Amino acid sequence: MELQEQLEKYCAKEINECTDREIYEALLELIKDKAKENRNKNNKRKLYYISAEFLIGKLLSNNLINLGIYDEVEKILEQNGKKLCVIEEIEPEPSLGNGGLGRLAACFLDSIATLSLNGDGIGINYHFGLFKQVFKDKKQFETPNPWMEKVNFLEETSKTYEIHFKDRRVLAKMYDISVIGYEGVTNKLHLFDIESVDEDIVDKTIKFDKNEIEKNLTLFLYPDDSDEAGHLLRIYQQYFMVSSGARLILDECIENGCDLRNLYKYAVIQINDTHPTLIIPELIRLLMEKGIDIDEAIDIVSKTCAYTNHTILAEALEKWPIRYLKEVVPHLVPIIEVLDNRVRRKYKDSKVFIIDENDYVHMAHIDIHYSFSVNGVASLHTDILKENELNHFYKIYPDKFNNKTNGITFRRWLLHCNKELSKYIVSLIGEDFKKDEKRLEALGKYINDEVVLNNILNIKMNNKIKLKKYLKETGNIEIDENSIFDIQIKRLHEYKRQQMNALYLIHKYLEIKSGKKPKTPITAIFGAKAAPAYVIAKDIIHLILCLQELINNDKDVNPYLKVVMVENYNVTMAEKLIPACDISEQISLASKEASGTGNMKFMLNGAITLGTEDGANVEIHELVGDDNIYIFGESSENVIKHYENADYKSKEYYEKDEDIKAAVDFIVGKELIQIGSRENLTRLYNELVNKDWFMTLLDFKSYVNTKENAFDDYNDRKTWAKKMLVNISKAGYFSSDRTIEEYNRDIWKLNGEE
Ligand SMILES: *Cc1c(COP(=O)(O)O)cnc(C)c1O
Repeated sequence: MELQEQLEKYCAKEINECTDREIYEALLELIKDKAKENRNKNNKRKLYYISAEFLIGKLLSNNLINLGIYDEVEKILEQNGKKLCVIEEIEPEPSLGNGGLGRLAACFLDSIATLSLNGDGIGINYHFGLFKQVFKDKKQFETPNPWMEKVNFLEETSKTYEIHFKDRRVLAKMYDISVIGYEGVTNKLHLFDIESVDEDIVDKTIKFDKNEIEKNLTLFLYPDDSDEAGHLLRIYQQYFMVSSGARLILDECIENGCDLRNLYKYAVIQINDTHPTLIIPELIRLLMEKGIDIDEAIDIVSKTCAYTNHTILAEALEKWPIRYLKEVVPHLVPIIEVLDNRVRRKYKDSKVFIIDENDYVHMAHIDIHYSFSVNGVASLHTDILKENELNHFYKIYPDKFNNKTNGITFRRWLLHCNKELSKYIVSLIGEDFKKDEKRLEALGKYINDEVVLNNILNIKMNNKIKLKKYLKETGNIEIDENSIFDIQIKRLHEYKRQQMNALYLIHKYLEIKSGKKPKTPITAIFGAKAAPAYVIAKDIIHLILCLQELINNDKDVNPYLKVVMVENYNVTMAEKLIPACDISEQISLASKEASGTGNMKFMLNGAITLGTEDGANVEIHELVGDDNIYIFGESSENVIKHYENADYKSKEYYEKDEDIKAAVDFIVGKELIQIGSRENLTRLYNELVNKDWFMTLLDFKSYVNTKENAFDDYNDRKTWAKKMLVNISKAGYFSSDRTIEEYNRDIWKLNGEE
């Protein structure tokens, strides 16, 4: 049947008589049916990627692209007076993740299916996901973000599991979202939910009774955990996910004729950060229920599980008081104690114990001892794990440690979000790069081709105009496409140093006020959500929103400088901002950003990185060379030394440098206090002067100087276009297809070899 006919069948009437929503729903059903056609059974072993987050973004267009019918659908709709890009807007974005870690999991699922590997995701079906951010009085407020409309991508299954907690039971039900590979196979994202969840217990903010587990368990991703009830709820969620997942895995293995003693020959479980760690003791418990003794069960599970570390921030490495586990999952506690005792018998070093002297259970330690692989997510990050953060473990298990530099799916982050650029690339070098991303290097031969360079600049300009229109229509924000678009979008965190970018804007504002005007105007764009209980992060948002008001309304300054903080930054917003970006801000304190993936998306879309030698910036730098990136700031080695010696004093930097002092003082100066909150601004000022744990002032001067160089260079348009071309042509390395090939080659081995 022709595609047009198929679509009409789902519409049940002529396409031109349908509303956009009816077409949207018809397309959704069409996609779901097409997805059934190539379910994957290829590999010997099956991968389960278990993660508390899957930040999948909207699915409609990506699925059409991956099914190879995007252009055709667009044409059919156009012939009927409909626009696919308008219909795309109807889909709500499921916000089942916080940021990079969840987005990585989503990119991985795309690549696994594209490479026709047998691998499913396992997670939780949060009804409201992460909160929706709204700004009021220049502050962040949180509201629920419902995404499950009547017609959506979820498919109910008949799989259910009764999940037992200490004093309650819930029924887990499995829902599936098809993961359609690009010219590949279809895998599944399994999301577990409970029937008794009650959306009505949530008010207009995101507050709810944290004790009513039967009603709240799957409402939110990482509910506010500033109190004990919040901590317990997280453990409830984690166990709910891993117990459902573990039983699904065992069921599927048994269906495939596996003797559970050979579990590792049938399954490999990739544990994405520590949130799913409890799957290790849970699997051991389930194997023991099947009559396998504990020693063998531990051995089987250790051969099945692999762990990915995502952070070295101490506060992000999960540890739970053992009494919380006794409160929620007492049946796992004896197993965790056995796991700890085995470690204690073998090793003297208390740093590698699972249960510490304060009775905290260190989740990462369970993962490292009882997985067969431990990987970091960028080369620098893995080195720091080996040499510093996890050195005690590395000495015990040198062979377990390996690096898998993160990647992004080019289908979403180029083909979908930047259609004009991808079509142009196809016209230059053909289609092959879509599945073999290294072939982008073929663009290198155009480095002195004036026509190509001009076209690249024109495409960037068109994307900037598109963004300008979008911001005008949706937020009534005015920006100038002839200004430099300097963009920092990522979760709000002190280590990512949005505060340093804000200080730069103050510095620039003061310069312009004193008569020193930039050659080309600058538009600084931010997007960032702060964790609801993260006070300083919210103060930084407040500062940026105050600067936005002050600067954009100052007639002396606004022809040269604009500040825009977009509301509710998410995947959909990222897809609009990234293709329009000139300068990509990747300014974390060296050693703190494990990898970053935003940096890769920007590079691929022809933005030039302004960044520290941190995370994957190091690898970007190596690939593009000194001339095609702007690097500044202290090295990770020196930063680590500062921490070891506790010798960084922000006040010294504040007192000895006039520019720094002027910028920091401005936070509590009369201009901002007039339009902002004295409490928020003062707290941030004090934090910067007296603590500044992430060393903003240490790097500030070098940041300003390097940024000025970048802005200067921007004026030489031809040289800038060359930098853009080099970045695009070298981005192939950061395809998640490459990352997944490495996971499969070194860890999963889905095609055999035990
Ligand atoms: C890619 C992405 C991130 C990760 O950005 P980093 O700059 O690597 O922290 C976070 N949020 C969204 C919505 C993304 O698409």
